Amino acid sequence: MGGSGGVSVRQSEERSVVSSHRGMVSRPSFPPLFSGLARRPKAAGESRVESSPPVIKLKSPREIAMMREAGRVVAKALDRVRQMAVPGATTADMNEAVAAIFREHDATPLFLGYPSSVKGKPAFPAVICASVNEHVVHGIPNRRPLEEGDIVSIDTGCKVNGWCGDSAVTLPIGAVRPEIQKLLDVTSETLDLAIRAMGRCRYWSEVASLMERFVKSQGFYVVEQFVGHGIGQDMHEDPQVPNFVSRALRKHDIKLEPGIVLAIEPMVALGTKEVRTLGDGWTVETKDRRPSAHFEHTVAMTPDGPRVLTYLED
Ligand code: MG
Ligand code: MG
Repeated sequence: MGGSGGVSVRQSEERSVVSSHRGMVSRPSFPPLFSGLARRPKAAGESRVESSPPVIKLKSPREIAMMREAGRVVAKALDRVRQMAVPGATTADMNEAVAAIFREHDATPLFLGYPSSVKGKPAFPAVICASVNEHVVHGIPNRRPLEEGDIVSIDTGCKVNGWCGDSAVTLPIGAVRPEIQKLLDVTSETLDLAIRAMGRCRYWSEVASLMERFVKSQGFYVVEQFVGHGIGQDMHEDPQVPNFVSRALRKHDIKLEPGIVLAIEPMVALGTKEVRTLGDGWTVETKDRRPSAHFEHTVAMTPDGPRVLTYLED
């Protein structure tokens, strides 16, 4: 399927069966980013990495149930943040509230202390990413009061009893301009349509194509520099899960079989897909400095179809 001369889908299937949740080998290393995983660069030196199929660890029903526990804590944290999202609130306060919820549940934060991918920059200092307006992902919480008309993307993840959950939401602060509300609605709907489509699509490329087409049809842009990811005992596992159909995806498509667990996280921008990382080594912003939104859920494929693990209630 897809690109000429690529590894066949049949081979990928065999590989993923071999590497089910029992007896897994160590995973390949990823760029050190925790959300909106940075795509592997296309540089020549990376071509060998790209040409090997992803090693997907399938999860048993018991393991998915454990991931649901982590997902429930993440959902509770984001629900608390949603209640706090009013003018005058600060992202530092939101960070403290989430840290408290994690402590209450003996959950280990996944973002705090994550090493920067930029040489010489400090590790991530917080348990949430808080990305305001033109900031796409990886924003650092601070004491600036949020203002009416802002939007803030809050992304967080934790580990409970050895299993991870990862989710993000973009919240309006008070009333926002209609085009910004539309950006939030379209990004949220892109995530929802992807989850629904997982129930009837056999391969992720079919889902990614629907996501990409929907965003374009609404006049917005899919940020391509960051993608979703497999998740399990590690926050970032294979495969990379793009929100668009990439060359790499065509080459090694992802079979949506029971036991696969993915963090699906569309990032959608109002005016451009181009982004850059700021001098703090973390914050990613749109190059045109117009707003961007980000929604994410951890989703397991089961014999009964997709199941969201980061909802507050089943
Ligand atoms: Mg995340
Ligand atoms: Mg993620």
